[in-house]
This record gives sequence, C-alpha cells and structure tokens, in this order.
Amino acid sequence: MADAILARAREFDAADPLAEYRERFILPEGVIYLDGNSLGALPAATPVRIEQVVRGEWGEGLIRSWNDSGWIGAARRVGSKIAPLVGAQSHEVIAGDSTSVNLFKLIAAALDMQAQSGSGRRKVILSEPGNFPTDLYMITGLERQGLAQRRLADRDRLIEAIDDDVALLLLTHVHYKSGEVFDMAALTRAAHDAGALVLWDLSHSCGSLPVDLNGCAADFAVGCGYKYLNGGPGAPAYAFVAERHHAALNQPLTGWFGHAAPFAFSDDYVPAPGIDRLLCGTSPILGLAALEVGVELIAEIGVDRLYAKSQALSEFFLECLGEWGLDLELVSPPHSAQRGSQLSFRHPEAYAICQALIARGVIGDFRDPDILRLGFAPAYLRFADMAEAARHLAEVLSTGEWQRDEFSQRNAVT
Ligand SMILES: *Cc1c(COP(=O)(O)O)cnc(C)c1O
Repeated sequence: MADAILARAREFDAADPLAEYRERFILPEGVIYLDGNSLGALPAATPVRIEQVVRGEWGEGLIRSWNDSGWIGAARRVGSKIAPLVGAQSHEVIAGDSTSVNLFKLIAAALDMQAQSGSGRRKVILSEPGNFPTDLYMITGLERQGLAQRRLADRDRLIEAIDDDVALLLLTHVHYKSGEVFDMAALTRAAHDAGALVLWDLSHSCGSLPVDLNGCAADFAVGCGYKYLNGGPGAPAYAFVAERHHAALNQPLTGWFGHAAPFAFSDDYVPAPGIDRLLCGTSPILGLAALEVGVELIAEIGVDRLYAKSQALSEFFLECLGEWGLDLELVSPPHSAQRGSQLSFRHPEAYAICQALIARGVIGDFRDPDILRLGFAPAYLRFADMAEAARHLAEVLSTGEWQRDEFSQRNAVT
C-alpha cells in the first residue's frame, strides 16, 4: 500500500508547477519539515546575501552604508515588497520590530484615533479567547496602563459583542492552533458598522493564502516575518496602516526613527508624514536583509499558486491518513477553503507523538494541551513528503513507539 500511495505522490510532484522552488531552499537531508508555519526554512540566497551585507556593506562600507547601501530606506523597502502579498499599497506597510511591539503601537494608536474623533469613551479591545497569547497579553499591558479594557467573545459571538464601547476588534486571520480562517470582509464590515476599528494579525496568513486588506477596508494589520515569509528566527515583523488613517495616526513609541527628520536632532517630536511614523528605533539591518530575501522569493512564486498548492498538500495528506486507516480527531476545518496551511489533530498523547515523529525526522509541533500541529509550507514541500509523513505517523501510532520514556520529556520550546 505504501508503494501505491508513494507512486501517486510522485505523479503529483512531477506535475507540480512549484516543484522547482524546493531547490531555492536549504533543507537538511532526511527531514520532512512540517513546521514552516512556526519557523520558515532557509532560502538558499539568504546566507549569500547576509555575507554580502556583513562583509561588504558593514565591514567595508561602515556607516556610509546607511546612504550608499540603502539601509535608511530598508524598513520601507521591505514593507513595500510585503504589501502586494496582503492586498496593500506599497506605502501602507513597514517592516520592523516584533509582531508584539507592533500590536502595542497599533492598539494604542486605534484608541487614540477613537479619542480624536470624539469617541473617547470607546476603550474596549475586543478579541476571542484562545487567540494567540501575545495578542491578548498586549491588550492586558495597555489595560494596566489604564488605556484599554479587554473583552473576549467566542468567535461565533463576536459580531454581537461589538457595541458602543468597542474601540477596536483585534483578531488573528488564520488561527494559530486550529488553522480556521475568519471572514475578514464580513467582520471588518460589522466592526465598522458599529463604529469600531479593526486590526488583523496576519502571522499565519501572509505567504500562505491570499489576503486583501484594502479590498476588505481593513484599518490596521500586523504579521510575522519568520513563518511563511522565511525571514529567519526573530525576523522583523511588519505593520499595515490604511492610507486614510496615516495623518491621524499617533503611536506611543515615539522614537527618533519615526520622526519627520531624524537627523535634524530636534528636541521635539514631529511624526514622519506617512507609514514611517510607525518606526521607533534604528532598523535591524541584518534581520531586514534576511527577511527581504524570503519575501522576494515568496512574491516570485506568487500567493495564489502557493495557496493552491497548500490546499492540495493538506487534502492529499488527509487522504494518505485515510489510506493508512488513521482516524485522528481533526480540529482544523475539514474543508481546505476554510483553513490556512496547516492541519491540527487532537490526541491526549499529542506531545509524545510529536516527539516520536521528530525522532524520525518528521518535524511538526505540539500546542498545549493536546494538539499535534502540522504545517504545509507550499514553497518547499513535496507530495511525496505528505505520503512519507503519513506513513511515519501511522507507524508511530501502530507500534506504540510514542510511549518510549524519552518522548514524554518536555522541552522549553514545543
Ligand atoms: C507567531 C505569532 C506572533 C509572534 O509575535 P512575535 O512578537 O513576533 O514573537 C504573533 N501573533 C500570532 C498570531 C502569531 O502566530
């Protein structure tokens, strides 16, 4: 049976228009990497580019490179390359800081914007329980400052929870644990109808499925650079602000890089005219250089093609599980159109099963308390990887291999 499944997988690979892109990544021998949704793989061009930036631009160019190598415009340049991936105009996105810090800036800016428009009583930031922790924690931080009030409502109750007190609806477009996708257009419309602004976290969306921020009239967005954008560990994140809000945008981290004229060294803060006012301190040039390579590669492949392949990969993986007679509890939506590029399964021994898979070279991840999460980064995975991963999972379960002691030791990072 394994042979028949593998033969079909190889046929799909032979017909895959994205097959050639696998070579554009450096992947270790013997590893099936199903965690590109947590840390994207290394593009082959990245070490070359980093070497150039470190030895040439830094080592030789020294401080001259701020001008000569375009370091000063890097945050804007990388942002403008991310923009078409999320349905934004090039001057509406900027790269820098972490997603967490960008959330802080934009939640605070949204509260300020409501106050400016005479709706200062609106203090509630509405989100859903089980949203990515940092999104919820950043609201809590602003709550402690006396600026915000956190309100959580289940995803099917969100619209009715938007009342006159809600300043901002803050949601993650593709849920990090289940992979479920929100209807961005419908929720944005409902929030606007009730006078609230909307901030979308695109960490699990950008680079794996099409996003149309301006088509949905979104106000703000943030997202992560190290997942599907393959920017490397701790890569700079990005932030989007719709052009119509640029003039009124006041964010609280008024550092000198967001100043209209940073090198005038004035004593008084004047925000830069456009999206640059979201900057705070000096841009991380090495991180931006690596992110730029990842973003260019994803843009070259194209989001529509990536999405089509990601859907085909996850559907084929489920089919392979069926062939092996595996009946795992799927917590992701069953239809690929309703999920991002991942499948999550619930199992009381998910942690040990995940560790046993990793020992076999199949790298997925575990999300507390009982979720085995497998990501299908479409830029570098093959259909044969799906067949092999399903076989490994079937063997881990049928042999009881996961019960070995070493697989229940918890690591710091899961
Ligand atoms: C990965 C992820 C983040 C990461 O935040 P950082 O501050 O960049 O570590 C934030 N939100 C969501 C939804 C994520 O999936």
